[in-house]
Amino acid sequence: MPRSNTQVLLAARPTGWVTEECFRVVEIDAPTPNDGEVLVENRWLSLDPYMRGRMSDAKSYAAKVELGAPMVGSTVGVVLESRAPAGSGLAPGDWVVGAFGWQSLGVAKPGALRKVDVTRVPPQAYLGVVGMPGVTAFVGLYDLAEPKEGETVIVSAASGAVGGVVGQLAKLRGCRAVGIAGGREKCDYAVRELGFDACVDHRAPDFEAQLAAATPSGIDVDFENVGGPVMDAIFRRLNPFARVSLCGLVSQYNATTPYGVTNFHQLLVNRVQLQGFIVSDHLDRWPEALATLGRLVVEGKLKWRESIAEGLAAAPRAFVGMLRGENLGKQLVRIGA
Ligand code: NDP
Repeated sequence: MPRSNTQVLLAARPTGWVTEECFRVVEIDAPTPNDGEVLVENRWLSLDPYMRGRMSDAKSYAAKVELGAPMVGSTVGVVLESRAPAGSGLAPGDWVVGAFGWQSLGVAKPGALRKVDVTRVPPQAYLGVVGMPGVTAFVGLYDLAEPKEGETVIVSAASGAVGGVVGQLAKLRGCRAVGIAGGREKCDYAVRELGFDACVDHRAPDFEAQLAAATPSGIDVDFENVGGPVMDAIFRRLNPFARVSLCGLVSQYNATTPYGVTNFHQLLVNRVQLQGFIVSDHLDRWPEALATLGRLVVEGKLKWRESIAEGLAAAPRAFVGMLRGENLGKQLVRIGA
């Protein structure tokens, strides 16, 4: 059994851009499970943009991380020891998804964990394409925006964990899928590997002209991940009765001055439906979404890439890098062998 637990704590609340100095890595004694609990060795940690919000004092939909406490986050790992009842369905060696945060070990009751089958899907995919980001894409696109065959769907952060699934689901619905991503490499990946019809580089000097060329019939669905000037440019091209699934505003998470949208009136004149959503409000949809995504993965119809940081000490650097767009695909931390 491991003797120590590596944790990454919130050491300081960022003002503006988060830095590596906002985190502290510590080693503490390994936890021991009480009666009814299991001990889990976390193998993979998911890094997600929402974690930036948890570092802040500002009021939000979820509680902030306290100073000196481990950062929150989803993990996938292996049960090392079980003191859970025999009928709990968990035994040593089982793979489980949990919310243990940025640490190498954790104890929990079985009800707080989801056992996963790693025989046909790699374990870390349960933090990405068949996990929370995949469900976010499914709910935000299919349930909320209801795209129809032949419509144009645009998604920002298109090569990322959520955006990559959105584009592929849009194609499976018979839509024209257009991505927006930072840089040529990401755009090429979205088109050549994920099957987007087009992908526009938001850093290109002629971004708006490229966006117009990629959306000749306008935009019917905006799966909005980014906000700021990218969203403003999208608003200018929305069609009458377009739908905006407002999933994230990652360009704003480190901003000290909020971006002022100039094309807001387009929502009125085009009678646009804009729906902000948080995937954890849609728990009733998770089983169907996960079953569909899992089937698509096994059938080879959903592809993804991963950016992997090695070890928890590398997590702060990878987290800052992800918010700066240095990741390609799902950002993960590999915790142990
Ligand atoms: P990603 O893997 O897409 O990583 C974040 C990406 O954001 C970066 O790679 C970068 O991509 C892009 N980005 C960062 N800053 C900017 C900027 N200024 N302008 C344009 N793009 C920028 O992350 P996820 O797929 O995990 O998350 C995508 C979005 O979905 C986030 O906004 C997140 O908060 C949201 N989300 C919302 C959920 C909900 O329930 N509502 C649940 C899960 C995620 P690039 O280099 O292409 O610009």
